[in-house]
Amino acid sequence: MKLTFLSHSDIARRELIAFLRSKGISNEDVLRAMGNIPREAFLDKHFSLRAYEDSALPIGSGQTISQPYTVAFQTQTIAPKKGEKILEIGTGSGYQGAVLAEMGCNVYTIERHVPLLNEARARFDKMGYHSIISRGGDGSVGWAEFAPFDAIIVTAGAPDLPETLLNQLNPNGGRMVIPIGTREVQRMYLIRMEAGKPIVTEFPEFKFVPLVGKQGWQ
Ligand code: SAM
Repeated sequence: MKLTFLSHSDIARRELIAFLRSKGISNEDVLRAMGNIPREAFLDKHFSLRAYEDSALPIGSGQTISQPYTVAFQTQTIAPKKGEKILEIGTGSGYQGAVLAEMGCNVYTIERHVPLLNEARARFDKMGYHSIISRGGDGSVGWAEFAPFDAIIVTAGAPDLPETLLNQLNPNGGRMVIPIGTREVQRMYLIRMEAGKPIVTEFPEFKFVPLVGKQGWQ
């Protein structure tokens, strides 16, 4: 009989996936991707033991890796499909980008803090996520060169819907998930483009670090 040995990380990840299911995450592709990715690889080693808590954790430059439920919720909301072109605003640790790459998406990600971007790039290289294209700078204005995108995922809280990002969505079926509100608390929104018109769905409250930029907080 072939025995399978599970590490502490494997067990903790299985428990996290069961927790996400219990909270209403039902997209099997999202759960599979998150079940395959060691979240501790996106954290400073001091936080390794907390990698599978459902909490946001510090990643330096005053920023955080989003809590696993938030990553699962935002990803499920845009329902990415294999081969789709997805823009992420706020690379942070790189974890969300890795989840999208693990789902077979072509990921474009932008981070305003260059030290964070460099650390995320090193993780992508080490873990073999070669489909992720990244740049430093203000992502609130999107990435016109590669538009239109099948989906845009904004992982920082915006004061309003950034018009430029909306214009970079595929007009037929493009989706954007974005937290909008005050600096302290935001509601999550899904904007789905149907025949060039945005259809808006509102979700409950979340807490994100601010989207700082031309189409974000000044
Ligand atoms: N998605 C990240 C992850 O998986 O670790 C977590 C993102 S963290 C909650 C939000 C990130 O958005 C921060 O790293 C912050 O520096 C970045 N950010 C804020 N405003 C930005 C902007 N205008 N352009 C690009 N990145 C921005």
